[in-house]
Amino acid sequence: MKKSFGSNGLSIAMILVGVLILAASGILIGMQVGNSMRQSAYEEELAQKREYEAKAQAEREAALKAAQEAAQAEAAAQNPATPTATPIPADITMTTEQLAAAAEAIKGVGVAGTSTVFSYADAQKNAGISLSTEDVPQPEGTDAAQTAGITITPTPTPLPTKIVCIDPGHQAEEMTDTEPNGPNSTEMKQKVTSGAYGEFSGKNEYEINLEVSLKLRDILVSRGYTVVMTRETHDVTISNVERAQIATAANANIFIRIHCNDVDESEVNGVLCYGPASDNTYLPQEIIENSQRLCEVLRDNQCAVTGQKALNNLYQNDMTGINWASMPVSIVEMGFMSNETEDLFLASEEGQNQIAEGLANGVDAYFAG
Ligand SMILES: [Zn+2]
Repeated sequence: MKKSFGSNGLSIAMILVGVLILAASGILIGMQVGNSMRQSAYEEELAQKREYEAKAQAEREAALKAAQEAAQAEAAAQNPATPTATPIPADITMTTEQLAAAAEAIKGVGVAGTSTVFSYADAQKNAGISLSTEDVPQPEGTDAAQTAGITITPTPTPLPTKIVCIDPGHQAEEMTDTEPNGPNSTEMKQKVTSGAYGEFSGKNEYEINLEVSLKLRDILVSRGYTVVMTRETHDVTISNVERAQIATAANANIFIRIHCNDVDESEVNGVLCYGPASDNTYLPQEIIENSQRLCEVLRDNQCAVTGQKALNNLYQNDMTGINWASMPVSIVEMGFMSNETEDLFLASEEGQNQIAEGLANGVDAYFAG
Protein backbone atom coordinates (compact mmCIF):
# COMPACT_ATOMS: atom_id res chain seq x y z
CA MET A 1 0.00 0.00 0.00
CA LYS A 2 1.40 3.39 -0.99
CA LYS A 3 1.95 5.98 1.66
CA SER A 4 0.15 9.18 0.72
CA PHE A 5 1.68 12.64 1.44
CA GLY A 6 0.23 14.40 4.40
CA SER A 7 -1.16 17.91 3.67
CA ASN A 8 1.68 19.50 5.76
CA GLY A 9 4.41 17.77 3.74
CA LEU A 10 2.77 18.90 0.48
CA SER A 11 2.60 22.57 1.58
CA ILE A 12 6.29 22.64 2.56
CA ALA A 13 7.25 21.15 -0.79
CA MET A 14 5.18 23.75 -2.63
CA ILE A 15 6.74 26.62 -0.64
CA LEU A 16 10.22 25.32 -1.45
CA VAL A 17 9.42 25.14 -5.15
CA GLY A 18 8.03 28.68 -4.98
CA VAL A 19 11.18 30.01 -3.30
CA LEU A 20 13.34 28.33 -5.93
CA ILE A 21 11.31 29.87 -8.79
CA LEU A 22 11.58 33.34 -7.22
CA ALA A 23 15.36 33.01 -6.77
CA ALA A 24 15.82 31.86 -10.37
CA SER A 25 13.75 34.77 -11.73
CA GLY A 26 15.80 37.18 -9.62
CA ILE A 27 19.04 35.91 -11.16
CA LEU A 28 17.58 36.11 -14.66
CA ILE A 29 16.34 39.69 -14.17
CA GLY A 30 19.76 40.69 -12.80
CA MET A 31 21.47 39.24 -15.87
CA GLN A 32 19.09 41.04 -18.18
CA VAL A 33 19.65 44.42 -16.52
CA GLY A 34 23.42 44.01 -16.89
CA ASN A 35 23.04 42.99 -20.52
CA SER A 36 20.72 45.81 -21.39
CA MET A 37 23.12 48.38 -19.91
CA ARG A 38 25.97 47.11 -22.06
CA GLN A 39 23.56 46.84 -24.97
CA SER A 40 22.39 50.46 -24.78
CA ALA A 41 25.92 51.92 -25.03
CA TYR A 42 26.57 49.74 -28.06
CA GLU A 43 23.21 50.62 -29.61
CA GLU A 44 23.88 54.31 -29.16
CA GLU A 45 27.16 53.98 -31.02
CA LEU A 46 25.48 51.90 -33.72
CA ALA A 47 22.64 54.41 -34.06
CA GLN A 48 25.16 57.21 -34.53
CA LYS A 49 26.97 55.30 -37.26
CA ARG A 50 23.63 54.47 -38.97
CA GLU A 51 22.69 58.14 -38.88
CA TYR A 52 25.85 59.11 -40.75
CA GLU A 53 25.41 56.23 -43.18
CA ALA A 54 21.84 57.31 -43.92
CA LYS A 55 22.92 60.92 -44.39
CA ALA A 56 25.76 59.97 -46.72
CA GLN A 57 23.49 57.58 -48.64
CA ALA A 58 20.97 60.40 -49.16
CA GLU A 59 23.78 62.67 -50.35
CA ARG A 60 25.00 60.04 -52.82
CA GLU A 61 21.49 59.41 -54.14
CA ALA A 62 20.98 63.13 -54.60
CA ALA A 63 24.33 63.24 -56.44
CA LEU A 64 23.28 60.45 -58.78
CA LYS A 65 19.87 61.99 -59.45
CA ALA A 66 21.35 65.43 -60.14
CA ALA A 67 23.99 63.93 -62.45
CA GLN A 68 21.34 62.00 -64.38
CA GLU A 69 19.13 65.06 -64.72
CA ALA A 70 22.05 67.22 -65.81
CA ALA A 71 23.10 64.59 -68.37
CA GLN A 72 19.55 64.42 -69.73
CA ALA A 73 19.24 68.20 -69.85
CA GLU A 74 22.57 68.52 -71.61
CA ALA A 75 21.80 65.74 -74.07
CA ALA A 76 18.43 67.33 -74.82
CA ALA A 77 20.07 70.73 -75.33
CA GLN A 78 22.72 69.38 -77.66
CA ASN A 79 20.56 66.91 -79.56
CA PRO A 80 17.09 68.46 -79.75
CA ALA A 81 15.92 65.66 -82.03
CA THR A 82 17.55 62.63 -80.48
CA PRO A 83 17.40 59.89 -83.06
CA THR A 84 15.96 56.65 -81.81
CA ALA A 85 17.84 53.46 -82.52
CA THR A 86 16.75 51.58 -85.59
CA PRO A 87 16.01 48.06 -84.45
CA ILE A 88 18.28 45.51 -86.07
CA PRO A 89 16.22 42.85 -87.88
CA ALA A 90 16.63 39.42 -86.40
CA ASP A 91 17.73 37.95 -89.73
CA ILE A 92 20.38 40.58 -90.45
CA THR A 93 23.54 39.30 -92.07
CA MET A 94 26.82 41.21 -92.05
CA THR A 95 29.90 40.88 -94.14
CA THR A 96 33.29 40.40 -92.44
CA GLU A 97 34.10 44.05 -93.23
CA GLN A 98 30.86 45.21 -91.64
CA LEU A 99 31.54 43.16 -88.52
CA ALA A 100 35.05 44.63 -88.23
CA ALA A 101 33.67 48.16 -88.67
CA ALA A 102 31.04 47.55 -86.02
CA ALA A 103 33.66 46.26 -83.58
CA GLU A 104 35.75 49.41 -84.18
CA ALA A 105 32.71 51.56 -83.59
CA ILE A 106 31.94 49.89 -80.27
CA LYS A 107 35.59 50.21 -79.19
CA GLY A 108 35.45 53.92 -80.03
CA VAL A 109 32.37 54.51 -77.93
CA GLY A 110 34.06 52.76 -75.00
CA VAL A 111 36.90 55.26 -74.70
CA ALA A 112 34.71 58.37 -74.62
CA GLY A 113 34.89 60.27 -71.34
CA THR A 114 38.39 59.19 -70.30
CA SER A 115 39.70 61.39 -67.50
CA THR A 116 42.97 63.14 -67.08
CA VAL A 117 45.38 63.70 -64.23
CA PHE A 118 47.54 66.78 -64.05
CA SER A 119 50.69 66.37 -62.07
CA TYR A 120 52.54 69.02 -60.13
CA ALA A 121 55.19 66.78 -58.65
CA ASP A 122 57.79 69.38 -59.51
CA ALA A 123 55.72 72.34 -58.48
CA GLN A 124 58.62 73.82 -56.55
CA LYS A 125 59.97 74.75 -59.95
CA ASN A 126 56.76 76.57 -60.62
CA ALA A 127 58.26 79.86 -61.65
CA GLY A 128 55.97 79.50 -64.63
CA ILE A 129 53.22 77.01 -63.94
CA SER A 130 52.07 75.37 -67.12
CA LEU A 131 49.24 72.95 -67.39
CA SER A 132 49.86 69.85 -69.37
CA THR A 133 47.48 67.05 -70.10
CA GLU A 134 47.61 63.67 -71.76
CA ASP A 135 45.73 63.53 -75.01
CA VAL A 136 42.18 62.53 -74.34
CA PRO A 137 41.26 59.90 -76.93
CA GLN A 138 38.37 61.03 -79.08
CA PRO A 139 35.51 58.70 -79.87
CA GLU A 140 36.05 57.09 -83.22
CA GLY A 141 34.16 54.67 -85.35
CA THR A 142 31.16 56.78 -86.33
CA ASP A 143 32.36 56.93 -89.94
CA ALA A 144 33.15 53.25 -89.89
CA ALA A 145 29.67 52.53 -88.63
CA GLN A 146 28.14 54.61 -91.41
CA THR A 147 30.26 52.82 -93.96
CA ALA A 148 29.09 49.53 -92.58
CA GLY A 149 25.50 50.73 -92.81
CA ILE A 150 24.58 50.22 -89.17
CA THR A 151 22.95 52.58 -86.68
CA ILE A 152 24.57 53.30 -83.34
CA THR A 153 22.44 54.52 -80.45
CA PRO A 154 24.05 57.81 -79.37
CA THR A 155 25.59 57.66 -75.89
CA PRO A 156 24.51 60.47 -73.51
CA THR A 157 26.75 63.51 -73.71
CA PRO A 158 29.26 63.29 -70.81
CA LEU A 159 28.92 65.88 -68.04
CA PRO A 160 31.38 68.77 -68.13
CA THR A 161 34.45 67.51 -66.28
CA LYS A 162 34.87 68.90 -62.79
CA ILE A 163 38.40 69.76 -61.71
CA VAL A 164 39.45 68.79 -58.19
CA CYS A 165 42.74 70.05 -56.78
CA ILE A 166 44.13 67.80 -54.02
CA ASP A 167 46.83 69.16 -51.73
CA PRO A 168 48.59 66.49 -49.65
CA GLY A 169 49.55 68.54 -46.58
CA HIS A 170 53.17 69.28 -45.61
CA GLN A 171 56.31 67.83 -47.24
CA ALA A 172 59.58 66.13 -46.21
CA GLU A 173 61.18 69.37 -44.97
CA GLU A 174 59.36 72.27 -43.35
CA MET A 175 59.85 75.83 -44.70
CA THR A 176 60.59 78.27 -41.88
CA ASP A 177 60.32 81.46 -43.98
CA THR A 178 57.07 83.37 -43.64
CA GLU A 179 54.43 84.60 -46.07
CA PRO A 180 51.27 86.75 -45.69
CA ASN A 181 48.37 84.65 -44.36
CA GLY A 182 45.99 86.27 -46.83
CA PRO A 183 46.14 88.55 -49.89
CA ASN A 184 47.19 92.05 -48.72
CA SER A 185 47.50 90.80 -45.14
CA THR A 186 50.31 92.08 -42.91
CA GLU A 187 50.08 88.97 -40.72
CA MET A 188 52.88 86.59 -41.59
CA LYS A 189 52.81 82.81 -41.13
CA GLN A 190 55.33 80.04 -41.63
CA LYS A 191 55.34 78.85 -45.26
CA VAL A 192 54.98 75.15 -44.40
CA THR A 193 55.17 73.52 -40.96
CA SER A 194 56.63 70.06 -40.35
CA GLY A 195 53.32 68.39 -39.52
CA ALA A 196 52.58 65.59 -37.06
CA TYR A 197 54.40 62.35 -36.31
CA GLY A 198 52.59 59.16 -35.30
CA GLU A 199 54.53 57.43 -32.56
CA PHE A 200 52.34 54.32 -32.87
CA SER A 201 52.56 53.95 -36.64
CA GLY A 202 56.09 55.36 -36.88
CA LYS A 203 54.92 57.45 -39.83
CA ASN A 204 55.09 61.15 -40.60
CA GLU A 205 51.92 63.06 -41.37
CA TYR A 206 53.22 64.13 -44.79
CA GLU A 207 53.57 60.44 -45.77
CA ILE A 208 50.01 59.48 -44.76
CA ASN A 209 48.63 62.65 -46.36
CA LEU A 210 50.19 61.77 -49.72
CA GLU A 211 49.23 58.08 -49.53
CA VAL A 212 45.55 58.89 -48.97
CA SER A 213 45.66 61.72 -51.55
CA LEU A 214 46.93 59.38 -54.27
CA LYS A 215 44.18 56.88 -53.46
CA LEU A 216 41.59 59.67 -53.54
CA ARG A 217 43.01 60.87 -56.87
CA ASP A 218 42.63 57.41 -58.42
CA ILE A 219 39.03 57.00 -57.24
CA LEU A 220 38.05 60.48 -58.47
CA VAL A 221 39.66 59.87 -61.88
CA SER A 222 37.79 56.56 -62.16
CA ARG A 223 34.58 58.51 -61.48
CA GLY A 224 35.28 60.96 -64.31
CA TYR A 225 36.87 63.90 -62.49
CA THR A 226 39.98 65.73 -63.61
CA VAL A 227 42.44 65.80 -60.72
CA VAL A 228 45.29 68.22 -60.09
CA MET A 229 47.85 67.31 -57.42
CA THR A 230 49.96 69.99 -55.70
CA ARG A 231 52.58 67.31 -55.06
CA GLU A 232 53.15 63.61 -55.78
CA THR A 233 56.45 63.23 -53.94
CA HIS A 234 57.67 64.25 -50.47
CA ASP A 235 60.79 66.04 -51.65
CA VAL A 236 59.25 69.37 -52.65
CA THR A 237 59.27 72.93 -51.34
CA ILE A 238 55.81 74.39 -51.96
CA SER A 239 54.47 77.00 -49.54
CA ASN A 240 50.82 77.15 -48.56
CA VAL A 241 50.30 80.25 -50.71
CA GLU A 242 51.82 78.43 -53.68
CA ARG A 243 49.55 75.43 -53.09
CA ALA A 244 46.50 77.69 -53.36
CA GLN A 245 47.99 79.31 -56.47
CA ILE A 246 48.39 75.88 -58.08
CA ALA A 247 44.66 75.26 -57.54
CA THR A 248 43.86 78.66 -59.06
CA ALA A 249 46.18 78.14 -62.05
CA ALA A 250 44.51 74.78 -62.69
CA ASN A 251 41.08 76.44 -62.63
CA ALA A 252 39.98 73.90 -60.02
CA ASN A 253 36.31 73.78 -59.01
CA ILE A 254 37.21 72.70 -55.47
CA PHE A 255 40.42 72.56 -53.42
CA ILE A 256 40.76 69.69 -50.93
CA ARG A 257 43.69 69.81 -48.51
CA ILE A 258 44.51 66.50 -46.82
CA HIS A 259 45.89 66.52 -43.24
CA CYS A 260 46.04 64.51 -40.00
CA ASN A 261 45.32 65.96 -36.57
CA ASP A 262 47.45 65.89 -33.42
CA VAL A 263 46.70 66.97 -29.83
CA ASP A 264 48.11 66.40 -26.36
CA GLU A 265 45.20 64.25 -25.12
CA SER A 266 45.74 60.77 -26.50
CA GLU A 267 42.10 59.73 -26.14
CA VAL A 268 40.76 62.45 -28.51
CA ASN A 269 39.73 61.00 -31.88
CA GLY A 270 37.48 61.77 -34.85
CA VAL A 271 37.22 63.68 -38.11
CA LEU A 272 36.79 67.41 -38.69
CA CYS A 273 37.34 69.90 -41.48
CA TYR A 274 38.64 73.45 -41.46
CA GLY A 275 36.98 76.06 -43.65
CA PRO A 276 36.71 79.86 -43.77
CA ALA A 277 34.53 81.60 -41.16
CA SER A 278 31.44 83.45 -42.38
CA ASP A 279 33.18 86.82 -41.84
CA ASN A 280 36.32 85.89 -43.80
CA THR A 281 37.46 89.06 -45.60
CA TYR A 282 39.61 87.34 -48.23
CA LEU A 283 36.89 85.24 -49.86
CA PRO A 284 33.54 86.14 -51.42
CA GLN A 285 30.41 85.02 -49.55
CA GLU A 286 29.50 82.34 -52.09
CA ILE A 287 32.90 80.67 -51.78
CA ILE A 288 32.69 80.83 -47.97
CA GLU A 289 29.26 79.16 -47.96
CA ASN A 290 30.28 76.49 -50.46
CA SER A 291 33.50 75.85 -48.51
CA GLN A 292 31.47 75.17 -45.37
CA ARG A 293 29.15 72.86 -47.32
CA LEU A 294 32.20 71.07 -48.75
CA CYS A 295 33.55 70.63 -45.20
CA GLU A 296 30.26 69.03 -44.11
CA VAL A 297 29.91 66.53 -46.94
CA LEU A 298 33.57 65.48 -46.77
CA ARG A 299 33.44 64.85 -43.00
CA ASP A 300 30.04 63.12 -43.06
CA ASN A 301 30.90 60.85 -45.98
CA GLN A 302 34.29 59.88 -44.53
CA CYS A 303 32.64 58.99 -41.20
CA ALA A 304 29.89 57.02 -42.96
CA VAL A 305 32.47 54.71 -44.55
CA THR A 306 35.02 54.49 -41.73
CA GLY A 307 32.72 54.63 -38.70
CA GLN A 308 34.94 57.35 -37.16
CA LYS A 309 33.42 59.98 -34.91
CA ALA A 310 32.34 63.25 -36.62
CA LEU A 311 33.61 66.27 -34.70
CA ASN A 312 32.50 69.89 -35.11
CA ASN A 313 34.07 71.53 -38.14
CA LEU A 314 36.19 74.62 -37.46
CA TYR A 315 35.59 77.75 -39.52
CA GLN A 316 38.33 80.33 -39.01
CA ASN A 317 40.27 83.01 -40.85
CA ASP A 318 43.92 82.29 -40.04
CA MET A 319 44.68 79.49 -42.52
CA THR A 320 46.95 80.70 -45.34
CA GLY A 321 45.99 78.01 -47.87
CA ILE A 322 42.30 78.78 -47.32
CA ASN A 323 42.59 82.59 -47.47
CA TRP A 324 44.55 82.46 -50.71
CA ALA A 325 42.13 80.10 -52.43
CA SER A 326 39.82 81.30 -55.18
CA MET A 327 37.38 78.38 -55.07
CA PRO A 328 35.57 76.41 -52.32
CA VAL A 329 38.24 74.95 -50.07
CA SER A 330 38.40 72.49 -47.17
CA ILE A 331 41.18 71.12 -44.98
CA VAL A 332 40.25 67.56 -44.02
CA GLU A 333 41.73 66.45 -40.71
CA MET A 334 41.30 62.71 -41.32
CA GLY A 335 41.94 61.64 -37.73
CA PHE A 336 44.33 62.05 -34.79
CA MET A 337 47.85 60.64 -35.00
CA SER A 338 48.06 61.27 -31.24
CA ASN A 339 45.42 58.55 -30.70
CA GLU A 340 46.80 55.02 -30.98
CA THR A 341 43.78 53.43 -32.71
CA GLU A 342 43.37 56.27 -35.17
CA ASP A 343 47.12 56.58 -35.90
CA LEU A 344 47.25 52.88 -36.84
CA PHE A 345 44.04 53.21 -38.87
CA LEU A 346 45.36 56.25 -40.79
CA ALA A 347 48.59 54.41 -41.58
CA SER A 348 46.90 51.17 -42.70
CA GLU A 349 46.11 50.25 -46.30
CA GLU A 350 42.52 49.36 -45.38
CA GLY A 351 42.00 52.55 -43.39
CA GLN A 352 43.38 54.70 -46.20
CA ASN A 353 41.17 52.96 -48.78
CA GLN A 354 38.09 53.59 -46.64
CA ILE A 355 38.97 57.25 -46.07
CA ALA A 356 39.61 57.84 -49.78
CA GLU A 357 36.31 56.14 -50.69
CA GLY A 358 34.42 58.26 -48.15
CA LEU A 359 36.01 61.52 -49.34
CA ALA A 360 35.27 60.65 -52.98
CA ASN A 361 31.62 60.09 -51.99
CA GLY A 362 31.77 63.52 -50.35
CA VAL A 363 33.00 65.09 -53.61
CA ASP A 364 30.08 63.46 -55.48
CA ALA A 365 27.68 64.79 -52.86
CA TYR A 366 29.18 68.28 -53.09
CA PHE A 367 28.66 68.57 -56.84
CA ALA A 368 25.13 67.18 -56.50
CA GLY A 369 24.18 69.96 -54.10
ZN1 LIG B 1 48.84 68.95 -41.07
